[in-house]
Amino acid sequence: MFYKQNKKLMNGFIVGLAVGIVLIDGFVNNPVARGLTLLLFVLIMIVFLISTVNKDIENLRLEHSLEKQNQVRSMDLVKKQLETLVTYLPYPMVLMDQDGEIELTNDSFELMMHDKKVETKSISSKNIPFMLKRVLNDIYLNEEPVTTNIAINAMDFQVVSIPIIQAKRYKGSLVVLHDITKLLYQERVQKRFVADASHELKTPITAIKGMVEILNRDDFNDKKTEREFLDQIKHETDRLEMIVKDLLYLSKLSNQTILLNKQPLDLHAIVSESIKTLKLKLTDKNINVKIQDIDNDPLIADSTSLLEIFTNLIDNVCSYSKASQLEITIDGNDKEKIVHVQDNGIGIKEEDLPQIFDRFYRVDDDRNRNSGGSGLGLSIVKELVNAHGGEISVDSKVDEYTRFTITLPKLTKS
Ligand code: ADP
Repeated sequence: MFYKQNKKLMNGFIVGLAVGIVLIDGFVNNPVARGLTLLLFVLIMIVFLISTVNKDIENLRLEHSLEKQNQVRSMDLVKKQLETLVTYLPYPMVLMDQDGEIELTNDSFELMMHDKKVETKSISSKNIPFMLKRVLNDIYLNEEPVTTNIAINAMDFQVVSIPIIQAKRYKGSLVVLHDITKLLYQERVQKRFVADASHELKTPITAIKGMVEILNRDDFNDKKTEREFLDQIKHETDRLEMIVKDLLYLSKLSNQTILLNKQPLDLHAIVSESIKTLKLKLTDKNINVKIQDIDNDPLIADSTSLLEIFTNLIDNVCSYSKASQLEITIDGNDKEKIVHVQDNGIGIKEEDLPQIFDRFYRVDDDRNRNSGGSGLGLSIVKELVNAHGGEISVDSKVDEYTRFTITLPKLTKS
């Protein structure tokens, strides 16, 4: 203890003692005394050496622990950086250990919990939504990488787990959830579109096939039915041609392969031309048309597209609305043209409004299928408006009115 506390003093004392002994030894002639002092000298030197080595070892230890401390400090820093990164990552993430205890979660993960204020400590916690708890439990039991899809709160997630292996032993898993709701929605829309398109094309083809088979029978000899069938076949082939034409047009619009020739144009003139094209139909349905021009500024847009948009909307009023009045208001502000196309007809039910621009969507499907449209009219209108950087919306009240509102930016020439 004393030695440890006065190391320098003691070491000096030992060296001094050794030197002293050697000097005394020089003067002593007795061989036994000489041998003893030599032994004593060697022993003192050994102690001295040990103390020096100990000191070095201690120094080394100190250096080592400093290095260790530095290592721990830098590991703490890395851990903190990792935690910050994980916390702000937009993907829900959880790190669980080999016992199913939760070691780390991020904000996105906590947002999915039933009670956001409660800390989720284990994968068996009631706080975790049922489906996620099941997947976490599977990951914990299997100790293997897992990739699976689950639905939580009307959202779709892809769950990916990465097992953490240290010294060939399973230490837990890092589980990441990826929101794939939009992706799956687009996939479903695509699948529904293909199914709807096949159905739309199959219906007239089946009808034509049936009639041709009857007409081809050896014993068929009915001139009146033959005439009716031929008219019907003409009607169905016209429909097929229209659907295919609209489908191709829509696909070109979606792929942006249609070039818009944007020029300054007079919107009033475009609307008037659409009305002129549908004059016969409008007169036939006793629809009175009124155009209100509040904003006269020219609009930079593609005239063919705008003609298509208004012809479609006005044609729909003729085909579906049973209206007596059609009012088209051309309004605007500094930046936009705002056009309302409003009729006083049967209206559209609230539950149909969100789907009205969907491809092949028809209100009262069977009745309107025979009205002659492809069910693609409003989707084409929407694509054309969007291609001009504009927006279209609809509001309606059953048996009162239907109003389509188109907003187009005024100065877009590209
Ligand atoms: P299509 O190309 O067959 O004419 P649309 O996509 O243009 O079909 O229209 C979809 C549906 O919207 C129609 O089936 C019709 O029921 C409804 N609809 C469109 N415009 C009106 C309107 N002005 N009044 C009432 N219903 C309408």
